[in-house]
This record gives sequence, structure tokens and C-alpha cells, in this order.
Amino acid sequence: MDLIDIGANLGHESFDHDLDAVLARARAAGVNRLVVTGASRAGSVRALELAKAHPGMLWATAGVHPHHAVECTAEAIAELRALQAEPEVVAGGECGLDYHRDFSPRPAQRTAFERQLELATETGLPLFLHQRDAHGDFMAIMREFEGRLGPVVVHCFTGTREECYDYLDRDWHIGITGWLCDERRGRHLREFVKDIPAHRLMIETDAPYLLPRTVRPMPSHRRNEPMYLAHIVEELARDRGEPVEVTAAAATATAATFFSL
Ligand SMILES: [Zn+2]
Repeated sequence: MDLIDIGANLGHESFDHDLDAVLARARAAGVNRLVVTGASRAGSVRALELAKAHPGMLWATAGVHPHHAVECTAEAIAELRALQAEPEVVAGGECGLDYHRDFSPRPAQRTAFERQLELATETGLPLFLHQRDAHGDFMAIMREFEGRLGPVVVHCFTGTREECYDYLDRDWHIGITGWLCDERRGRHLREFVKDIPAHRLMIETDAPYLLPRTVRPMPSHRRNEPMYLAHIVEELARDRGEPVEVTAAAATATAATFFSL
């Protein structure tokens, strides 16, 4: 298999001591290309640094996650603009709304999201978006920018069938993680992932978060790694009623086109 992990938080400190081994294990599992998520000002700088250090294997996004919305000042937007001009930065984001955790006040989240979408209208870059428990406001803000944005992926999709259809109706892409493998929270996804057209479907680990609960043997450290993308695509293919090679090849082609890798 030849897989692309479109969302890996490899700048996370849990990878500091063994990133080369993590990347070697990813390659051995067929995960040959990865997009490192930039989710804060410092994290976006770090993601670019990693991409520059691993040309042809790692690329980066640059953005401010809603958890960090308060740091998304005008100065931060200027920093993101510079980062997004670098050839290794293939998408704006991670940005969006997260009303599940509410780590930042909601008005600050909405402002940070709007500022980053405004930047995206300038750059034309694809957008790597996050939405959790905020579908209504998310759609309302996206409507303000209708017709002015490049391609969009709503990453780590965890929402309802209706939310999924809303995104597909707008020709956005859906990122599926190991959330699918969570029998407590992800069971509903298994019912409708087969409805996502192949050219709108991408896969990701969101490592080090979201270790798929169906991985065997379960690693004792509980850290998710890009190599487990091979497991996620197997589970996804089963739910779609396709051979894993078909799902894998389509997701890879979709991601390579979306991010121009
Ligand atoms: Zn996210």
C-alpha cells in the first residue's frame, strides 16, 4: 500500500525523542507521505521545520486551532501569511470551531476562524478545518466566504450523517481517523462512510491522539503513530464494502491531488 496521512501532529513533544523511528515504521507500513498539522503559532513553525527536514515525505499546514484562538492576533495572521508562502506548506489551518472543549471563548474562536478564512481568500491554499459540536456556527461562517475559498477538508470528521451530507453538498472533503474504530463514540460513522464519494475521502491518524481502539496488540504507551493508518484504512474499507487496496488507492489519489503532493 501507498498511503498519505493527511493529519499527523508530529511536532508534538511525544515524538521529540524518536521521530526518525516513527517515520521508519510509517514507511514500513506504507505511509510514505504525511502532512504535519500546524495548530498554533509555534506549532506551525515547528511543522514547517519538520517538513523542510524531510523533503518528499513530510509537508505542513500552518494555522491556529480553536483551542488556541486567543493567540490568533493580527500579528499571528502576518506570521501565518509568511509561513503559507513557503513551498512545504500545503494548506491553511488547522482552524475552525470547537465547542466541545471550549478551551477558548467562543467569540474568540469565531474571530480566529474568520481571520484565517480571510487569509485563505488571499492565498488560495486548500483549507484543513476542524469542527466539533459547532456545526451551525461553522456553516454560517463558511457561508460568508462562499465562492472565495480553495478546496476544503473537514478533518477528523466525528459528526452526524446530516453534517457529513452538508459538507459533501458543498463539495468539501472528509477526513476519517481512528475515531471510526471507537466502539463508544464512532459507531455511527460506520453506517455512512460508504456514502462518501472516493474523490472526497481522505484518511489520517491525528497522531499522537486517537489511537484506534481496535489496534492489536494495543501498544502500552497509548501513543498513536502514523503507521496505524494502515489499520484505519482496513477498517474503513470493510465499512465501505471495498477491498482495502481500492479504498487506499483512492484516498491516496484524492489527498495527492488535494494538497498537490
Ligand atoms: Zn482537529
